[in-house]
Amino acid sequence: MLKNKVALITGSTSGIGLATAHVLAESGMNLVLHGLLSDEEGQALAQKFEQSYGISALFDNADLRNPEAIKTFCQRAKDSLGSIDILVNNAGIQHTEAVDTFPESKWNDIIAVNLSAAFYLIQQSLPSMKASGWGRIINIASVHGLVASVNKAAYCAAKHGIVGLTKVVALECAEQGITANSICPGWVDTPLINQQIQDISDKNGVSFEQASYDLVTAKQPLPEMMDPRQIGEFILFLCSDAARSMTGASLPMDGAWTAQ
Ligand code: NAD
Repeated sequence: MLKNKVALITGSTSGIGLATAHVLAESGMNLVLHGLLSDEEGQALAQKFEQSYGISALFDNADLRNPEAIKTFCQRAKDSLGSIDILVNNAGIQHTEAVDTFPESKWNDIIAVNLSAAFYLIQQSLPSMKASGWGRIINIASVHGLVASVNKAAYCAAKHGIVGLTKVVALECAEQGITANSICPGWVDTPLINQQIQDISDKNGVSFEQASYDLVTAKQPLPEMMDPRQIGEFILFLCSDAARSMTGASLPMDGAWTAQ
């Protein structure tokens, strides 16, 4: 059922997005890969996917802070692969600092990449989903879309925002075969959190491994980081027919973080 559908995954050159791309390619989907690589590196990545999985893959490095670049990117994807059937809004950035000194430029970038880009990508993707009467929108939020932590003003604002956006899209598309859900992960082993681990390591004079354990267990009862592929597998389930009634949900994968 999912073979030959087109999945656009933002931020699929690293971490959760890249792992998800592998999972979706294994089930025969054509891919729009995206992230901040050079054209050359991105083309090489797309070629690797085409050769390994026998699918069609396109790469684009649109900067998600730029709405015009997002529109051009989506048009290119639709022109090349015919439609966008599955949209995974995954790209995200982080900066941790107290709200009273939080840099305005970091606030603007985090809101642009982690929230506004999803709005533009949804707008660009809905016409082809509505035309075919089928679509899946999966937004990678965070536990920080459900609860807060200190020093994460912009990230929490963006992630709470994307949870709200997801609910509205689910309501508006409920009769058109299109589902919209947010996944809310706890700690996932990706480059995004390296700086936070390094900060703890420097501050407490402990190894990177110890700092990583300390970071995870400070809030998350399950004392291990998730493998990004676990999120990819969950996304694959949300694309399946079995998940057609799941929409408008904010789905924690958080080692019981938000159960407390
Ligand atoms: P990552 O740093 O490994 O990957 C981020 C991706 O986003 C990369 O492909 C990068 O090129 C792309 N990107 C960054 N800025 C961009 C920009 N301006 N324009 C275009 N692309 C840009 O991160 P990750 O951990 O895989 O995070 C993926 C998503 O998961 C994010 O939305 C993040 O907030 C969320 N998340 C991560 C964790 C975690 O513990 N890692 C936990 C909860 C939620």
